[in-house]
Amino acid sequence: MEGAPAVPDDPLPPAPDLARSGARTWAVLRSAAAAVGSGTRLVVTAFLDLLFPSPCLVCDRYTGEPPGEGGGGIVCGGCLAGFRRITEPWCLACGEPFAGEKGVSHICGACERRPPPFHRARSLFAYEGPVLAAVHRFKYRRLTALAEPLGRLMADALPTLLETDPTTVLVPVPLHRRRLRQRTFNQALLLARAISHRLKLPVEYRALARTRWTRPQVGLSLPERRSNVQGAFTVPPHRRQRVEGRHVLLIDDLSTSGSTGSACAAALVAGGARQVDCFTLARPRR
Ligand SMILES: [Zn+2]
Ligand SMILES: [Zn+2]
Repeated sequence: MEGAPAVPDDPLPPAPDLARSGARTWAVLRSAAAAVGSGTRLVVTAFLDLLFPSPCLVCDRYTGEPPGEGGGGIVCGGCLAGFRRITEPWCLACGEPFAGEKGVSHICGACERRPPPFHRARSLFAYEGPVLAAVHRFKYRRLTALAEPLGRLMADALPTLLETDPTTVLVPVPLHRRRLRQRTFNQALLLARAISHRLKLPVEYRALARTRWTRPQVGLSLPERRSNVQGAFTVPPHRRQRVEGRHVLLIDDLSTSGSTGSACAAALVAGGARQVDCFTLARPRR
């Protein structure tokens, strides 16, 4: 499947206009002018748009919320309220939540049978609702402004999910250079930078290299996903000192089967990392 394009899992409504200030203002003025005489409601709406010209990048609604904490004026309070945290009980190793709300966290059967190369993997949110919309728009609609509020949410939750120490370094899951050309940015790197900005942890974005093109994991079975990414990552010999003896926090936007995290962690451990933990923004509910 060489050359298979990266495609979204499902269609989304079109993204808001990236250059939304100037052009948007004139569009609003024009629609306001057209509405004169046909109803004051439209005029009032247009006036509000002028006062608060930044729609939520996830739902397109103009909320008029001031910039600040949480969504930072980029994601509205309504969308943030719909971001569902993954809660315990979960597997202490792979972080997969167990069905039902009762019980205590423990190692799942799959991790018992086949211990993962990482120490722990944790995801912040369930990949659904506004989180799914946010990730799609961030990655596939290239709304990179979303990296900052999403990374900040990850940074703020990190101390409750995973431990860090003075040797901790953030390593984003690398993209193959062909995928990077298609997308023009690495979403994992942007998230890692936002986390780094907040928590003052260093980012080593060249510590891990993707040495081989892999087809998108979407639609593959678990064994197919494993073999698809197995051996696709390496720590280049001249970068070993970046991770040797260190605690690596592997950063990505999504964790679906854990296969990518496992392949990266195996490469990092082989490259001398003392311990690898995986931290992703979201994972789908099974
Ligand atoms: Zn919203
Ligand atoms: Zn597990």
